[in-house]
Amino acid sequence: MNMQTIKMICHRCGSEQMEEQITDLPFKLDIHKILIVKHTPAFVCESCGEIMLSDSVMESIDAIIRKIEKTDYELEVMRFAA
Ligand SMILES: [Zn+2]
Repeated sequence: MNMQTIKMICHRCGSEQMEEQITDLPFKLDIHKILIVKHTPAFVCESCGEIMLSDSVMESIDAIIRKIEKTDYELEVMRFAA
């Protein structure tokens, strides 16, 4: 499998200067439930600071959300796993 070169364009300001970073991202699932996904590969816009996720990262996070959405926890902290 080849390393993908993903070209990300900031959806807020249109900049092509997106820097890939490993970061901890909070997701508010509903009023009472917050998910923090640690160690997530994200793209950060160098001009406006917008954070974007690649489709494959979004899919992994969707899978985590589906897994935890029926639990009663108010705060979940998961480690990102591709
Ligand atoms: Zn931007």
